[in-house]
Amino acid sequence: MAAVFVPAVIAIAALTFAAWLLLAPGSGPGVALAHAIAVLIIACPCALGLATPMSIMVGIGRGASAGILVRDAAALQTLATVDTVVVDKTGTLTEGRPRLVAVEVAPGVDEDSLLAQVAALELASEHPLAGAIVAVARSRGLAVQSPEQFEAVAGRGVRGRIAGVDLVVGAARWFEELGIDGVPFAAALNRHRQLGRTVVLAALRGRIVGLFAIEDVLRPTSVEAVQQLHRLGLRVIMATGDARATAAVVAAQLELDGVEAEVTPEGKARLVAGLQAAGRRVAMAGDGVNDAVALAEADVGIAMGAGSDVAIESAGVMLASNDLRAIVRAIGLARATQRNIRQNLAFAFGYNLLGVPVATGLLQPLTGWLLSPMFASAAMSLSSVSVVANALRLRRTVL
Ligand code: ADP
Ligand code: MG
Repeated sequence: MAAVFVPAVIAIAALTFAAWLLLAPGSGPGVALAHAIAVLIIACPCALGLATPMSIMVGIGRGASAGILVRDAAALQTLATVDTVVVDKTGTLTEGRPRLVAVEVAPGVDEDSLLAQVAALELASEHPLAGAIVAVARSRGLAVQSPEQFEAVAGRGVRGRIAGVDLVVGAARWFEELGIDGVPFAAALNRHRQLGRTVVLAALRGRIVGLFAIEDVLRPTSVEAVQQLHRLGLRVIMATGDARATAAVVAAQLELDGVEAEVTPEGKARLVAGLQAAGRRVAMAGDGVNDAVALAEADVGIAMGAGSDVAIESAGVMLASNDLRAIVRAIGLARATQRNIRQNLAFAFGYNLLGVPVATGLLQPLTGWLLSPMFASAAMSLSSVSVVANALRLRRTVL
């Protein structure tokens, strides 16, 4: 805008000088110069330059005081235009405080010693499911060894070696990929999933020997948050690495516009990219390492408060609370900021549109109005004051 605005204003000032000299020869070069200067002063684009950054700064500050931390101006502006929200299940829609509710073991396997071995691996994992298993092992007072080898596979589980024995712990889907047969546990698997539980399997030396059923209840506020997002005109889609049956039970309690289950971390990112290719503006909300790629891929990534560091690092917006309704507030704030920017631009342009013709003396033959450079500079300052004052109104935005 500056590339057009600046030459145009200089041209208008030069024309004003020339016109006064030629068309009103009686008034002399001093008057012509005063009018040209009045044009330059009143057109000074301070207010224009302040319009956007003032609103963004006040908006980001208002957000911070409500637990919405915005990384940069772009994230806040994009958030205002989002029309689809993809949400992770575990830790985002659900409490993220999973409890181990059932353990089933193969014949001849000691439950406590298996639990101790599994807990040894999970101790090194930052997945919320890991915490549930570790907590029970601790409460039973089991001795937890440290593993000789450990690997966390995002969206699948953990594997490693303890006292020379290979141990794999994670999603049933992963065992299929690894070619480990889970048939003996198929019935138990389904039974727990029908109850909305997440099932984690454990294999020792390539044979599945245990099943851990973990329950993570839906956050009561999630239902309301989804309704509020709908009211704002957004679509809400759940994406989870968990099994289809478990996801369906959780989804049935919400009014979602779509459910994608058994997706890998890359699958979540592909889902986001697919929606974008279909012309949607996508915000992704998640908390885990498994959400990081999708958070970075989305137009805006939103990390939940108790999220992992990678998730927070990949997101443009971070919510201090874990309440999904904070997303609704963040979008409300983004939209209020966007409206405020438009008002500011209208103020700033309005002054120039009205002030410049008066300053040139164009209205003098009709109305007798003239603008002295002194008056022009007062009006110009006022335009900046009005922009700043309008931006400060954002501080009182109700979120
Ligand atoms: P979500 O998308 O619901 O947050 P993830 O993609 O993180 O879930 O995980 C998908 C599945 O992988 C889990 O439901 C679980 O079965 C398995 N999983 C992932 N990490 C672990 C872990 N540390 N221990 C056991 N199972 C795990
Ligand atoms: Mg999660």
